[in-house]
Amino acid sequence: MNSLVLVPGGAGFLGSHLCERLLARGHTVLALDDLSTGHRRHVGHLSAHPRFRLLVHDLTRPLPRAARSAGRVYNLACPASPAYYQQDPVQTTLTSVIGIWHLLELCQSSGARLLQASTSEVYGDPQVHPQTENYVGHVNPIGPRACYDEGKRCAETLAFAYRWQRNVEIRVARLFNSYGPRLRPGDGRVVSNFIVQALRGEPLTVYGDGQQTRSFCYVDDTVEGLLKLMDGPIEGPVNLGNPVEHTILELAEAVLRLTGSRSELHRHPLPPDDPRKRRPDISLAQRQLGWMPRVSLEDGLVATIEWFRRELELPATGGLARKAA
Ligand code: UDP
Repeated sequence: MNSLVLVPGGAGFLGSHLCERLLARGHTVLALDDLSTGHRRHVGHLSAHPRFRLLVHDLTRPLPRAARSAGRVYNLACPASPAYYQQDPVQTTLTSVIGIWHLLELCQSSGARLLQASTSEVYGDPQVHPQTENYVGHVNPIGPRACYDEGKRCAETLAFAYRWQRNVEIRVARLFNSYGPRLRPGDGRVVSNFIVQALRGEPLTVYGDGQQTRSFCYVDDTVEGLLKLMDGPIEGPVNLGNPVEHTILELAEAVLRLTGSRSELHRHPLPPDDPRKRRPDISLAQRQLGWMPRVSLEDGLVATIEWFRRELELPATGGLARKAA
């Protein structure tokens, strides 16, 4: 196998962790990123690495020449936070659809294998719980989340069309709410929002009644799942997520406890089309890839909080100390 690995979205939250792991495994890594939500800083510690390169590239444009020699491609390119992906819904949709089209064309001519990072959002506001891979989903095609959900659904469609019609080797992972260090403080996702708010001693913004659920997967577990899927025997789609489900209020309480913050909870309206429940059935990944998450929510939050503390340059006692100071 050619050891050059292409990582579109490589300067993003998930992408930067994946690049680290690929380098540690001895691969040469070419990261592509338009830096819309990714950041050079996420891969700053890799910039001097002899086997790492970052090219600023918008995936809706034709791929750079250097990408042609990749043997494997992990496509993580797309803003993933609702706040970010709704800022430019046209670009969000095209990044998924035109982006994967460019990558599939590349893989067809080079024989490279493509792993597509799809999402639990393909299930929309699910009517089946927990979600198995054969559930076809419940997505509003014209709602505010559609640019992400339908873009990712169409990307899956194209991946399987190229697989069946043109024999391209594919892998499709459906990721459920990954979190960890390098989520951006202003990213708008619930884990980063709550941690930043708690550390700053600001109110935690709970949308709706806080009884909606998510299943949060620590980034190291997600990356391990992606590597296993790429190397493993099945194409997917495969759910990769933590099957332990929490309400948003439970998450808020855990963040307050682990930061030692006395922030209050403030209620805000629930955004339109916000899924009420989400939990992956991961039996397929367990059976076929021998994968399951190892990091508990508590341990993952502690590591993430530590990272945010340093990022925000706050003292170890967090929001409480700042308020008292
Ligand atoms: N959420 C919240 N407060 C926030 C941000 C998000 O209560 O400050 C809720 C949001 O309404 C959703 C859940 O947390 O029900 C997860 O939101 P996120 O944006 O992290 O991810 P997604 O909705 O894509 O799963």
